[in-house]
Amino acid sequence: MPVHIVTHPLVQDALSILRDSSTPPERFRRVAERISLLLAAEATRDLPVTAATVQTPLGPAEGSSIDSDVVVVPVLRAGLGMLDAMLKLIPTARVGHIGLQRDEMTAIASRYYSKLPDLEGSFVLMIDPMLATGGSAVAALDILHEAGARQTRMICIVAAPEGIELVERHHPDVHIFTPVVDSGLNDHKFIVPGLGDFGDRLYGTH
Ligand code: URA
Repeated sequence: MPVHIVTHPLVQDALSILRDSSTPPERFRRVAERISLLLAAEATRDLPVTAATVQTPLGPAEGSSIDSDVVVVPVLRAGLGMLDAMLKLIPTARVGHIGLQRDEMTAIASRYYSKLPDLEGSFVLMIDPMLATGGSAVAALDILHEAGARQTRMICIVAAPEGIELVERHHPDVHIFTPVVDSGLNDHKFIVPGLGDFGDRLYGTH
């Protein structure tokens, strides 16, 4: 499975701000949006296009236009922190939602909500900032696959080797875009060093 590590300095700078435990929720939200936009640009590098000619004030110019139906799917609730960036970049995208609850003891993810547009033939961007055990990612990808998704990209902000391995085992065709792969998980299945609980950092809960 292709894992794309996005090393762009602007991405890495934003990641350091998100990791910093002194970053307050208001700044965390702004920077999460900035990093998501940069990651989305990478993840859509091979978006299908068609040739298009437009008239500039000085004559015709050959170019291209996006020729695919893009669906963005945030995994609730942390994925919502990445959604506005996706829609800024691809305003015509349709949006599905998947809600998964992670059992704090077993880290097993179960579905409590799923509402998806038609996915057949669409370019699907699943957004879930923390790829930790991979349990939620695999559960969400299973739902997308059952619903007909075939070209799926997953965008995350921090990944752990365990999560990458699990996704690779269950969904070898899914491309993962991440700025970093951290060293591993602690006993509570949090990514170390990670950035803590993304949803809590985003919304000021704990
Ligand atoms: N979810 C988070 O928000 N953080 C982690 O480190 C792991 C899962």
